Amino acid sequence: MPDREALRDVGFREVLVDLDAVTSNVRALREVTATEHFVAVVKARAYGHGALPVARAALAGGADWLGVATIAEALELRGNGIDAPTLAWLHAPDEDFGPAIEAAVSIGVSTVAQLSAIAAAAGRAGRQASVQLKLDTGLSRNGLPRDVWPEALRVAAELENEGRIRVDGVFTHLSNASLADDTAALTLFDEGVALARAAGLDPALVHAAASAAALRQPEARYNTVRIGLAIYGLSPFQDTAGARALGLRPAMTVRGRVANVKRVPAGSGVSYDYTYRTERETTLALIPFGYGDGVPRAASNLAPVWIGGKVYTISGRVAMDQFLVDVGDSPVSIGDPVVLFGDAGDGFPAVEEWARAAGTINWEIVTRIGGRATGVWVTGNPVD
Ligand SMILES: *Cc1c(COP(=O)(O)O)cnc(C)c1O
Repeated sequence: MPDREALRDVGFREVLVDLDAVTSNVRALREVTATEHFVAVVKARAYGHGALPVARAALAGGADWLGVATIAEALELRGNGIDAPTLAWLHAPDEDFGPAIEAAVSIGVSTVAQLSAIAAAAGRAGRQASVQLKLDTGLSRNGLPRDVWPEALRVAAELENEGRIRVDGVFTHLSNASLADDTAALTLFDEGVALARAAGLDPALVHAAASAAALRQPEARYNTVRIGLAIYGLSPFQDTAGARALGLRPAMTVRGRVANVKRVPAGSGVSYDYTYRTERETTLALIPFGYGDGVPRAASNLAPVWIGGKVYTISGRVAMDQFLVDVGDSPVSIGDPVVLFGDAGDGFPAVEEWARAAGTINWEIVTRIGGRATGVWVTGNPVD
């Protein structure tokens, strides 16, 4: 249990990211998955943790690739001196692939039209483009649908022979609907990989598994895994014990300081709509986080909050900038440290408890965190 002394430097409203946790999580996942390549997924500001520091921390832990959704995200890494191999897979309809090719960003391909546009941009840039063919094996999201595979593979092989592109990878993304569904998707993917080889392609990276499949379905690992959530120390199976058993440590702590404290009589309404009323004379602590900072309003009256060594429950509605907590007769004062969630091993509420309270998943809770909260990136155990 962290003491108040350890939290004396806490800011008003901040997101603390333990970069050593990211590095050691990647190292642990590297060991468990034992694949030739490891793509650390740092899209969406590294799931709210900060793309640049997290990318560096993941590379330090042994990731040899970075994965992002958009080319803009990849170029942000490049613009800040991160030149590790990087894959981007979600493109605008009229995407200009030139900048990605110039920056040696590997481009995920989901349509034959994208292949042509990439080849044309490579011609203009006078550089070979790195592409990775994304095969849709059931998710129905991005990726080349099954009936397009023969044409796409033929076009890709032609463009590769002409030296305009290099097919560095073939990949797919799984639904996590069930093990049976993912096994069916992998069977289809195997067929796609075989077709790619028969077309004369020799992709260096073959990948399907994100966090869940990488951890529970060894046959999904091929020679590369593509992991987001677990590098942040969170479990795709919604149990914190599972993440700890794997040696994973949550990297994010959302913390701040009590902004105000008020002694109120019984029957006092608490926050908008008075969805909570005090049963007796009590103390209300004002916490300076709201949905403007990514705290879900759906967690009103439900989510846990650590204040000065004890865990309470939010009282009333989460507003845009703040919410209240009925702390009873506890001696809570203005300025006391508050932790919304962090490492459950340190006695803080887990992000999974917030996910349950808000009716969502841990991915969404951490990724939405942001807004006015200040990012603080540290190495070393932040509560020691
Ligand atoms: C977001 C994403 C991942 C990472 O998924 P996690 O479940 O967070 O590990 C991997 N691949 C693709 C295509 C993605 O969109």
